[in-house]
Amino acid sequence: MSFQDCHQEHLLIYVFSRDTPYKQASEVEDVFTSYRKRVEPLRDAPRRSLPAPKSLPPLAPSIPSQAAPFTIPTTLEDTITALKKPLTASSDLKNPPTYPSNADSAHPFLGGSTPGHDRIKHLISSGSMSSYKETRNGMLGQDFSTKLSAWLALGCITARQIHWYLVDFEDGKTDLGKVVAGHGKGENKSTYAVRFELLWRDYMRLCARKFGPRLFRVEGFRNREYDWKHDGDKLKRWLEGTTGAGLIDASQRELFLTGYTSNRARQNVASYLSKHLDIDWRFGAEWYECCLIDYDVNSNWGNWQYNSGQGNDPRGESRVFNFVKQANDYDPDAAYIKTWVQEVRGVDTPEQAWQCWKIPDERRKEFGLEGNVMAEQPLKKIEYRVGSGKKRESGGGGGHFNPSSRRGSERGGRGRGSSRKDEALKKLLPFRQA
Ligand SMILES: Cc1cc2nc3c(=O)[nH]c(=O)nc-3n(C[C@H](O)[C@H](O)[C@H](O)COP(=O)(O)OP(=O)(O)OC[C@H]3O[C@@H](n4cnc5c(N)ncnc54)[C@H](O)[C@@H]3O)c2cc1C
Repeated sequence: MSFQDCHQEHLLIYVFSRDTPYKQASEVEDVFTSYRKRVEPLRDAPRRSLPAPKSLPPLAPSIPSQAAPFTIPTTLEDTITALKKPLTASSDLKNPPTYPSNADSAHPFLGGSTPGHDRIKHLISSGSMSSYKETRNGMLGQDFSTKLSAWLALGCITARQIHWYLVDFEDGKTDLGKVVAGHGKGENKSTYAVRFELLWRDYMRLCARKFGPRLFRVEGFRNREYDWKHDGDKLKRWLEGTTGAGLIDASQRELFLTGYTSNRARQNVASYLSKHLDIDWRFGAEWYECCLIDYDVNSNWGNWQYNSGQGNDPRGESRVFNFVKQANDYDPDAAYIKTWVQEVRGVDTPEQAWQCWKIPDERRKEFGLEGNVMAEQPLKKIEYRVGSGKKRESGGGGGHFNPSSRRGSERGGRGRGSSRKDEALKKLLPFRQA
């Protein structure tokens, strides 16, 4: 169907499809960068957002009953129970993660349009929107990234509304963020970076439209055959967050317990399941679908394809994340891992939290890790020396090592190091452990 004919084109995306150079989704390039270049400059691309309607159509007088075995809950408690059912009733998850002490959700989400708008205003007035480029790969704390995904996914706010708040800030049209550097000074690196990410969301949607049911097929958009392994035990440990790879386990536990995990963690978790364990990426996508508050069919399945080498990553299966190097780069003192994997809070070095098989035998007992699979049968070991940037691998999986992310390689400058970035992170994470 062409964009011109499609009257259902909804208003929640960033660039209205009919305003792009494409007539239909099949014309959209398979590489994000090519697509982006054709719709840039992003600041000029979106239409104005529509005003809020003055009134809403009346509610339906009644809700038709569901055919068995489905029922519609009638109380809040029953609704919450029903929503949690995929997690609580899973026979695969015999030992689900339990909430660790002193761990705060990075995403204390409150639904609705007003809290969504309040969040945008907070990001602008606190300066977080203006330091986004430096902090966006963080993993702990609320303001390292926007956390707007759930409101976007649920339609409480739109990408265009975010854009026009940013324009007002950049043009100094309102007092919002007046005391923040950059107010009235035009687009900056961080406001551009937010628009850039919002365009990824559009792109994932267009790809889903282009490829239709291939979004869910194991061969993916690339139509790539691969001999995936079927290993229920490994899958279960990945689900429960007991693989022995600290970054992966922390993220899986955080996801299960809070419904959110950062983009950096998601990329690592997806790469780990599909490229280190060689397990069918669709198990991961389904699990995320169960757990994510910001679940969005296009972004979830499209990103899973991308990170498993089946989708629109031009480097496909050859891009494999080294989860130890990634932990070194993005969780150097293991503060994130220690937050969610309580068992490793007392370890002597970050390396021991990144991979707990590194904890010496005599110390394992103290942490209750004697005989524990994470320490004694990690699913994957990576020999990695801090500062070397090199690795030797043992165990299953494998593949070419490349620490950079897709956007790092597309835009350059990936990795830790800039003092501006370190300063910005310090502001956000005052509680970082030594
Ligand atoms: C395996 C995997 C699964 C994912 N599943 C989802 C999902 O179900 N729903 C979802 O909204 N995002 C998904 N993402 C994309 C991204 O991780 C989240 O949008 C982001 O972490 C949400 O946090 P934020 O709002 O703070 O993001 P920010 O970094 O602040 O980004 C701003 C906004 O840009 C959009 N965005 C950012 N990165 C991406 C991306 N890679 N793809 C599409 N849109 C992006 C989101 O709407 C986000 O709110 C997934 C990524 C991976 C690697």
